[in-house]
Amino acid sequence: MSAQIISGTEIAKKIRQELKQEIAELKEKHNLIPGLTTVLVGEDPASQVYVGAKGKTCDALGVYSERHDLSVDTCEEELLALINKLNKAPRIHGILVQLPLPEHINENRVLYAIDPKKDVDGFHPVNVGKLMIGEPDYLPCTPHGIQELLIRSGVKIEGAEVVVVGRSNIVGKPIANILLQKKEGANATVTICHTRTKDMAFHTRRADILIVAAGRAKAITADMVKEGVVVIDVGVNRIGKTAEGKAILAGDVDFDAVKEKAKAISPVPGGVGPMTITMLMLNTVRAAKLSAGLA
Ligand code: NAP
Repeated sequence: MSAQIISGTEIAKKIRQELKQEIAELKEKHNLIPGLTTVLVGEDPASQVYVGAKGKTCDALGVYSERHDLSVDTCEEELLALINKLNKAPRIHGILVQLPLPEHINENRVLYAIDPKKDVDGFHPVNVGKLMIGEPDYLPCTPHGIQELLIRSGVKIEGAEVVVVGRSNIVGKPIANILLQKKEGANATVTICHTRTKDMAFHTRRADILIVAAGRAKAITADMVKEGVVVIDVGVNRIGKTAEGKAILAGDVDFDAVKEKAKAISPVPGGVGPMTITMLMLNTVRAAKLSAGLA
């Protein structure tokens, strides 16, 4: 069997078209323009690329965007004062603080200062709690992207044995929580594995849907999956450089070998990656609608 390739690039493109249409309608019918601001502290090259990509996507979809780039020696009080100002800014519906922050700043204190209504990353404890009880305003972007990949590829989630490798607060725990909900596009039986799991292959071989967010290249090999599994590979590992000095990326799954057994599999790059920014745009539109009483 050679697997169906779940293309995040294609699915994200489709969702962006839908969003662009919705954004144009919000402007025309309600004079409402969704607004997103990014806050970046320091000059980490990867973070600059991510923030740049978010700004470009806003422009392409008709979302108003602002960018606050602060020097690496910005103190926590200054950053909190900016967040406070942005919490009150009427044109801004979503605030995204690019992580990681420099070590002298307490990341949680900053994330918790964001108004939960503008927390389009879905990291504020209020939004984490709402997700837990099945009443989310915002789903965190990467896990939401994973759920959309599955739904839009026609994968049956209800009743499926889902195994998640990784238990981080930004991927593993929330995707497990989302797919566990008593809702359409969910209703799965979910197992979470991590570095203290006794026999990981025992669990991964039982999976109908395997979601891997470990951050370890080739953590999943062909002998660890069953025939007909659906695999979503979240991992992004820099495994080398091209002659031109560009990073060579690989996921957490031994793609070439596993695709011979899988029914469907997402590649890296071009799988989960493009979905994350797209879901950020979706959350920003939702934030704007919630603020205007339209959602
Ligand atoms: P993280 O915070 O480092 O968490 C990794 C998790 O995987 C931990 O829970 C860890 O277990 C578990 N783990 C690591 N190695 C393992 C192994 N060999 N067997 C079983 N479990 C293992 O990472 P993250 O933030 O969740 O990100 C995971 C990966 O996804 C990274 O490569 C990251 O770059 C990528 N990512 C991609 C996107 C995207 O948009 N494409 C977004 C977010 C993350 P313990 O808890 O026991 O340590």
